[in-house]
Amino acid sequence: PNEQFEPDPSKKNLVILGTGWGAVSLLKKLDTENYNVIVISPRNYFLFTPLLPSCTTGTVEHRSIMEPIRSITRHKRAAVKFYEAEATKIDPERKTVMIDDCSDVQGASNKTEVSYDMLVVSVGAENATFGISGVRENSCFLKEIEDAQRIRKKIMDCVETATFKDQSPEEVERLLHMVVVGGGPTGVEFAGELQDFFDQDIKKWVPEISDKFKVTLIEALPNVLPSFSKQLIEYTESTFKEEKITIKTKTAVKKVTDKTVEAEATGPDGKKTIEVMPYGLLVWATGNALRPVVKDLMSQIPAQKDSRRGLAVNEYLVVQGTKDIWATGDCAVAGYAPTAQVASQEGAFLARLFNTMAKSEAIENTIHDLSSKLNLQPGNAGEVAVQIETNEKKLRRIKDLKPFHYTHQGSLAYIGSERAVADVSWFNGNFATGGGLTYLFWRSAYLSMCFSTRNRVLVVLDWLKSKAFGRDVSRE
Ligand code: FAD
Ligand code: NAD
Repeated sequence: PNEQFEPDPSKKNLVILGTGWGAVSLLKKLDTENYNVIVISPRNYFLFTPLLPSCTTGTVEHRSIMEPIRSITRHKRAAVKFYEAEATKIDPERKTVMIDDCSDVQGASNKTEVSYDMLVVSVGAENATFGISGVRENSCFLKEIEDAQRIRKKIMDCVETATFKDQSPEEVERLLHMVVVGGGPTGVEFAGELQDFFDQDIKKWVPEISDKFKVTLIEALPNVLPSFSKQLIEYTESTFKEEKITIKTKTAVKKVTDKTVEAEATGPDGKKTIEVMPYGLLVWATGNALRPVVKDLMSQIPAQKDSRRGLAVNEYLVVQGTKDIWATGDCAVAGYAPTAQVASQEGAFLARLFNTMAKSEAIENTIHDLSSKLNLQPGNAGEVAVQIETNEKKLRRIKDLKPFHYTHQGSLAYIGSERAVADVSWFNGNFATGGGLTYLFWRSAYLSMCFSTRNRVLVVLDWLKSKAFGRDVSRE
């Protein structure tokens, strides 16, 4: 374990915003001895998002996929400072970040400013709602741990309320209608997990609702999982049919109220009809939108004026129009999909870049010192010149860092009833697979990607526990 954080005035202040995939993979590989490293995030833990859909039903418990940021920073060679706060404004002129302690407990100091020499923006994204009325007030998102907890509670609340004395049949039908909007991987994985929960557990515990529980997945495009291959889309859609999940494609939600979803469906003849669906639980998974702090930063940089989806970065992940701000992950536009795979490779690249920058600066200083020696001690000129040349060679080798290059390892998604789909790149080829074996592959791949051994053990125990005893249906 390292000592207490003591900022060294001879080192640069490296401020990292976020504790998600991009930030944590940077932190893991960064040599913290080279900088005064300060991490700022409203969340004092890393969240393993690929297993978040499993948390909504209790297949996996939430703490099993969280890793405290302190357990990451305390193993670093030099201490790292962590502030649990939200960055509210970045000032690229003054090189400062305004931060706000937005937690429930606030001290006398809760808003302040942090100065940086180098800044990494890794704040991820918000949930897109496209300004559709009623979405924010009435639906659950699925991005953070609290979202998963809220969904888990609401599923059981709907079930218990549906079985309340004298509930009318229409109300029972509404309460047990679980609607998922967005047929991307988040929506599909959640729908699969939810149907599993019902088939494997709820049905046994509350048999009176067994023919009334219904899951509907709504997608605006002609098919779900648009980023997967055609074969896997068909496999997913047919599996959902078997699982009795209704898929409504070419159906775009236009309005949400506290009890209904209003959607515009386009028929095969191109005719549009409005459908009103009563629901008990509504999960909104229509992708990403910009966070306010990112939007605000973009508005201050003229070179970002044409960027819509996030901070446009160059091939070294430097935010276009700036010199000392880098961005990774969902808030950066580097030409890749907003995935954990991309964010973590970008974070690791920045760690290599920063380690290299520090090393080359140290060598440049040595060369500078040697050059002054050369002038002061002409007697040793030969020996010093050799040393200068060796250092210059070293410097050239180090400075030859190639730009960021993303290696796609494939896409994986769980689709329920112990089946998964995978588009995997293998020896420069691609192959698509779906089914039970893919599910085992999905489980082992996600397990190996888990942050720590502790996380891995907890996840395996959760899987065993829910298999042996069923998922816990108590409403927290
Ligand atoms: P995040 O991981 O979201 O981290 C952002 C961090 O910034 C968080 O710590 C947050 O608290 C912090 N933050 C937010 N606002 C501020 C602020 N104002 N100031 C400071 N800090 C702030 N991708 C895959 O490749 N494979 C998968 O299987 C997969 N499954 C997913 C399942 C779900 C349910 C979801 C929602 C996403 C999934 N993804 C998956 C996508 C993946 O999670 C994201 O692409 C990834 O998290 C992006 O990393 P990031 O570091 O940019 O952002
Ligand atoms: P997404 O952007 O992939 O999908 C959102 C879907 O919602 C789109 O298909 C869109 O057409 C649909 N939609 C938008 N507005 C709608 C409306 N009004 N009515 C009906 N449908 C509407 O979003 P996501 O699934 O949250 O994924 C976000 C990112 O995270 C993606 O890059 C994804 O690859 C990644 N992710 C990956 C995994 C995985 O690999 N297993 C899991 C989850 C997320």
